[in-house]
Amino acid sequence: MDIPRTMLVSKAYDFDKFCLEEMETPLPGPREALVKVHTLGVCTGDVTPWYVHKKCPTVLGHEPAGEIAALGAEVTHLKVGDRVYFHHHAPCGTCHYCRHGNYSMCETWRKAKLIPGGAAQYCLVPENNLYKDTWVLPDSMSYDDATLIEPVACAVRAFRRARMTPGDTVAVMGLGVMGQMMVILAKYYGAKCVVGSDKVPFRLEKAKSFGLDRAVDFTKESFPKAVFEATEGRGADIVMVCPTNAAAMLEGIECAGRASRVLMFMGPQPGTPMTVDMNKIYFDEIDLISSYSSGPRESREAMWLINEGYCTSKQLVTHRFPLSQMQDAVELTRKAGDSLKVLIDIP
Ligand SMILES: [Zn+2]
Ligand SMILES: [Zn+2]
Repeated sequence: MDIPRTMLVSKAYDFDKFCLEEMETPLPGPREALVKVHTLGVCTGDVTPWYVHKKCPTVLGHEPAGEIAALGAEVTHLKVGDRVYFHHHAPCGTCHYCRHGNYSMCETWRKAKLIPGGAAQYCLVPENNLYKDTWVLPDSMSYDDATLIEPVACAVRAFRRARMTPGDTVAVMGLGVMGQMMVILAKYYGAKCVVGSDKVPFRLEKAKSFGLDRAVDFTKESFPKAVFEATEGRGADIVMVCPTNAAAMLEGIECAGRASRVLMFMGPQPGTPMTVDMNKIYFDEIDLISSYSSGPRESREAMWLINEGYCTSKQLVTHRFPLSQMQDAVELTRKAGDSLKVLIDIP
C-alpha cells in the first residue's frame, strides 16, 4: 500500500472548534501498525464540552475502523490489508488491576492512545494496543458495524458490572445511542422487563422497536413511578443512568428496588457532589456502581454480538458526515435530538 507523506486530520482546538489540517503521516515502529481509517464513530465523550476542552488541542476519535496499511518488521500475527478493530486503550495484562480483570484501572491502559487519534486518514496503533486489543474483523462485518465495537463493549461491561441476571428488571435513563444499546442488550441478557426514559419522541419510539416494554417521556410523567408500576411495585433490579449529573443519579436511586444496582455510565465533571439518603442505601441494599470504558474481553464479546445482529449500524446509525464536517457531526450529536450514532467517512 502506498502511504502518502502527509495526511488529513480533523484537529479540535476546543469543544466547538474543529479544523481540517494536514500533518505528517506517522510511521510504524518494529512492533506497531499503521491503519488506514475508513469510518469513525462520534462518541458521547467527544461531545462533552469539559472533557474535550481539557484535552485540546487534540485529534479526537476513539471509534475508528479500517485496514492495515503498513506493519512493523517484527509483527507476524497480522498482514497488510487486514480489516481491523483496534482499541485506543490497552492493558498491561500483569499489574494488580489486570490480574483482577479490571483493565480500565491499569496505569498502562490509562496512558495508552492512538496516534494522532481516530479523526485522521491514518492512525498509528502502538505495540501494546496492537498485541492486546486489536482484532481482525469477521469478513461479514462492515466498517460501519466495526465502529460500534467500542461503544457496545462499554455497554457489555456495564451489564457485567451490574451483575445482570436473566429475569432482572432494568430501567434505562436516557435513550441516546448508549441507552438504545442497553435496551437491546438487556433484552438479549434475558431482562424480564425494560423501562426507559427520554424526552425525544424519536428516541422513545426507536427504543420501543428494540423491545422496550415501557417508554416514559419524563417531561410528562414521573419515571420512578412508572418503573414501580411496571415492576409489580418492586422497583428495578438494575438502573442504568446515562445522563451524567447528580439529579439523574438521584432519580436513578428513586427507581431502584431492594437488592438492586444503580450504575453511573458516564463520567461526571470533577468535583460533582451528590447527597443521598444513606438509610435507604443501607436497608434496601442498593449498590451504587460505575462502569468506565471496556477492555479486550468486552471488545471480543461486542464484536460477536454485533456480528450476530445485536446493536448493528443498521439499527443505530442515523447520520454520516465527511471528515471535513466533523464539527457538524459533533454538534448534531451534542443536540441529542433525532439522531443516534453519527459516523464520519474518512477519505
Ligand atoms: Zn466511545
Ligand atoms: Zn495492567
